[in-house]
Amino acid sequence: MTNAGNIQKEMNRIQNSEEIANIFGKLVSGRMGYKAVIDVTKPAPKCEKCGKILEGTEKFCPDCGQPTSFVKK
Ligand SMILES: [Zn+2]
Repeated sequence: MTNAGNIQKEMNRIQNSEEIANIFGKLVSGRMGYKAVIDVTKPAPKCEKCGKILEGTEKFCPDCGQPTSFVKK
């Protein structure tokens, strides 16, 4: 008896995880944490202070209040 459905679900989970992006980036670049293709197409705006992932439209981090640099005045 096989669990094809479970395997498919697990594959989806892995592909959506940030972990696989890190592993893939490491394979490509040799550096841990480097996100190769994914960040080239759409870099995720992040809080410079706490690292929270943002929409890219915030003037301040909703978590820690750090002014963001991606909104031009
Ligand atoms: Zn923050």
